[in-house]
Amino acid sequence: MPTAPLTEEAVLQSLRSVMDPDLRRDVVSLGFVKNLKIRDGHVSLDLELTTPACPVKDQLKAEATERIRSLPGVREVSVQLSAAVRGRPVQGSAQMLPAVKNLVAVASGKGGVGKSTAAANLALALAATGARVGLLDADVYGPSLPTMFGICETPEQKDGRLVPLERHGVRLMSMGFLATKDTPVIWRGPMATKLIQQFLMAVDWGALDYLLIDLPPGTGDVQLTLVQTVPLTGAVIITTPQDVARSVAQRGLRMFQQTDVPILGIIENMSHFSCPHCGERTDIFRHGGGHRVSEELGLPFLGEIPLDPEMVVGGDEGTPLVAKNPKAPGARAWREVAGALAARISVVNLSTEATRTHPASVAVESGHVVIRWEDGHESRHPFAQLRRECPCAVCVDENTGIRRHFAQALPPDFRPVEIQKVGRYALQFFWSDGHNTGIYTFNSLRDSAEARK
Ligand code: ADP
Repeated sequence: MPTAPLTEEAVLQSLRSVMDPDLRRDVVSLGFVKNLKIRDGHVSLDLELTTPACPVKDQLKAEATERIRSLPGVREVSVQLSAAVRGRPVQGSAQMLPAVKNLVAVASGKGGVGKSTAAANLALALAATGARVGLLDADVYGPSLPTMFGICETPEQKDGRLVPLERHGVRLMSMGFLATKDTPVIWRGPMATKLIQQFLMAVDWGALDYLLIDLPPGTGDVQLTLVQTVPLTGAVIITTPQDVARSVAQRGLRMFQQTDVPILGIIENMSHFSCPHCGERTDIFRHGGGHRVSEELGLPFLGEIPLDPEMVVGGDEGTPLVAKNPKAPGARAWREVAGALAARISVVNLSTEATRTHPASVAVESGHVVIRWEDGHESRHPFAQLRRECPCAVCVDENTGIRRHFAQALPPDFRPVEIQKVGRYALQFFWSDGHNTGIYTFNSLRDSAEARK
């Protein structure tokens, strides 16, 4: 039987089974395949990923190579990896920072959890993959970037704008570069936010794939206004095992929910201690809280960072760990988390699920919560069923994930008294039995409706 000729279509067809696990689509429909050339059985192409920090880039390359190699008539395959970071047009970004593709806030519920350490190491880890990265220290109360990068110089001005200082391939700017040691930084409330806005605009960032913004700790008015005025792609929240539930669930989340900023994920810092001598792992605090809380809230968990004494030394000596000792376990962990973060940013930017899992309207109709989704589907959720599906820590055992027995009989007039949208990702029901702690993600609501069909 004559074999089918080796055509571009045949190659593309074979690549349609190579899926990006984060974006959940194949590399052809994602538009990754570029410069496809076929000559005398030699196939070459570029796989243009959405981020150079893609955690599965080697896997995608290997799978693509293997699929093409199995086609009849193929003698040699050459797959080159490249990346073009995509950004999402966010309202207001055009005037504010036209050449910055993604603005990412690094936030925490309180100080001292390693937020600045995270911002610095994530920026370095992303830059090490070839991405163009900037880091803005927006911590007007206690700028830490000058110490962390060992910087004493003042940035130059060009055409009336501040030129960021560059270290280890990352463009840096901090209010601390402008204040001298004797000028205490005591900006308050409205002044601080106005200053940050002006500051952002006054810096000539140039073209960036990612600009990380190290927010002041906590979630007060300053942070809230900042988050509202800066056109963010999303926010990442740093927690430690011991403060995870309180800070993330209650404070950090509420701020982003008020401002409609997508939460890219949660990072658990100082998660455990790996002995530098024997490698044995010790959970100093109750470990796993970040994972558990992110599951409960339906938010991505980006990973854990160990307690690493080298992290403190690096921070104090002016070279964050990822640059100082890339082989350290802590540096490895930051690189993994940076990859997960970059993947998550790509998901938010490209998400095809945005409409499938986004409600156009939520209504209450004869014993049901009726959700009409943006893709035209409608799902009907009986009140009692929804109540029994409550994902909160009271209804589901925190340690085992097993649902607690729901013995209580619901009264005939049981109903939601109020339904509130939580950010862009979930609903919260205030039930007539007084229960209101469950956050029902759009994903889980849509999935449970489809599972019942
Ligand atoms: P925040 O910005 O949340 O106030 P910092 O990033 O300034 O916190 O970190 C507080 C202190 O904790 C710093 O001395 C820092 O070096 C240290 N630190 C942060 N993360 C770790 C870690 N994973 N292991 C060890 N020390 C850490």
